[in-house]
Amino acid sequence: MRFGPPGSTPAPECETPWSVESTEDNYLRNHRSHDVGRILKRWRAVAREAGLQVVTLIDEADDPVIALRNRKPVTGPGLYLSAGIHGDEPAAVWGLLEWAEENTDMLQSQSVVIFPCVNPWGLVNNKREDQEGRDLNRAFDQPETGPIGAMLEFIRGREFAVAVSLHEDYDANGAYLYELTQRGESWGDHLLEEVEQELPRHQGSVEGRRLKNGVLRRTQGFAKIVRQIAGMPESICLYLHHARIALTFETPSEFSLYRRVRAHVRFLDGVLRRVGQEGK
Ligand SMILES: [Zn+2]
Repeated sequence: MRFGPPGSTPAPECETPWSVESTEDNYLRNHRSHDVGRILKRWRAVAREAGLQVVTLIDEADDPVIALRNRKPVTGPGLYLSAGIHGDEPAAVWGLLEWAEENTDMLQSQSVVIFPCVNPWGLVNNKREDQEGRDLNRAFDQPETGPIGAMLEFIRGREFAVAVSLHEDYDANGAYLYELTQRGESWGDHLLEEVEQELPRHQGSVEGRRLKNGVLRRTQGFAKIVRQIAGMPESICLYLHHARIALTFETPSEFSLYRRVRAHVRFLDGVLRRVGQEGK
């Protein structure tokens, strides 16, 4: 059978491009993006290789909520990384995992706290909220809610150079970033440059708020935001109490899972490079 536009020279049978399986096709075909058991198993392997301790924060449901930290104390600027607080955002969870698998050497020498999948029930069931219908990313002022109290206890007294929360957005047409930072300091534009190898930047506003080249930057007015969105999100809590910069990175849910996962990996690569430069 011959393919191609009318009048064109047919390609030889052996060169049909669709017979060649690309990395992306292969990834998409074999992926099990909502398989929490597999995710936790791979995190335990990362922990063994990187000298991290795995702590179970909650073990009431089918899949536990876990956290990781350095087994031995490590000095230097700390990194707080979290994903999967919204269960219908799988690329965030897989991006963090694949990035960690690619960086086990670095994780041995970097002071780090990781929450790899904050809402495992949500990931299994592809739901933003937890099993009781709560948006955990509005509950960082309610320690009695789900794993929030255990997470806050896990980081009690800790200070981080940067806190990163990884997310996805169904309404986005590209990647974007919320950046909570001091006046005069901004990482966002550089970080999105790294991501652009995989995904374009989001164009337009987000929930009525105007972005500057994909970055929504805030240096003040946090109490008002908390009132407007009816609850304390992870990033504002981290910025107010634990981190000099808090970044919330979002990928567009309607794009290829492979691209979205790679975008999270590139974003984290950029953060790590930046933290390394700051630490010198
Ligand atoms: Zn989210």
